[in-house]
Amino acid sequence: MREICLCSLTNIRSGSCKGDCKFCTQSIYWGAKIERYRWKPISQIVEEAERAWEVGASGFCLVTSGIELDPHSLPRLQKMIESLKKRLPQLKLIGCFGIAEKRELEELKKAGLSAYNHNLESSPSFYPRLVTTHRWEERFKTAQLVKEVGLELFSGGIFGVGEDKRDWEEMIKALKKLDPEVIPLNFFIPNPALPLERTHSKEMALEVISLFREAFPQSVIMLAGGRELVFGDKWVEGIKAGADGIIIGNYLTTGGDAPHKDWKVIRQYGIRVKNARS
Ligand code: SF4
Repeated sequence: MREICLCSLTNIRSGSCKGDCKFCTQSIYWGAKIERYRWKPISQIVEEAERAWEVGASGFCLVTSGIELDPHSLPRLQKMIESLKKRLPQLKLIGCFGIAEKRELEELKKAGLSAYNHNLESSPSFYPRLVTTHRWEERFKTAQLVKEVGLELFSGGIFGVGEDKRDWEEMIKALKKLDPEVIPLNFFIPNPALPLERTHSKEMALEVISLFREAFPQSVIMLAGGRELVFGDKWVEGIKAGADGIIIGNYLTTGGDAPHKDWKVIRQYGIRVKNARS
């Protein structure tokens, strides 16, 4: 089994998004019952980063709801990144702030950001069935800019939303042009407010993982949202199929397994963890 890396995330601005992504509880269109707030205080984000570091995360992803990076929020994000870097210089910071311009990405990098997460979500032909408020091509463009400015690119997608194998192949073809360092694989988490049914199973998830591992031997294949739903505490099956990263802790609007439960599995199977400290 490959050595794995652990990543943690925090939702720093939640809900009220004008996007209509059918898989997302943060969209204003679906009225999902989630916690909504404008900005999480920096002190709280620093505390969460400290906890993530303590449970072995080597990466920490700051996520804002919204289609694109609002230029007015840039100074706040820069300050946040600088504070976190000062407190935890070894923790890799990843930003996930939506569609962005080159200058904004350069500013974030200057502040200390190492990577940018910007998922293509699905194939260019299936994407319009999931989202109509913005275009797949705009997302692709931002992912290209991430590479251009020298940030690491985290880019993957969401599965089990009605797409089929041709969409996976199309998505792989697009991602090959971007060569992401990390590919997060999310498995749709149903919610009664969302207009989508789950179409994934464990077998399907294993097939997706193997396919992406084969296509991207050098990238980290990260099991992200929906891992617990698909595998329960048997997520080692996903690692055996080729994944080499997991999100530890909670997701954006849903809880994840407690870190000690993941560590129990890590120890039980003797999985090696990059930069492990616990
Ligand atoms: S743009 Fe992002 S936050 Fe907004 S609805 Fe889509 S996935 Fe959710």
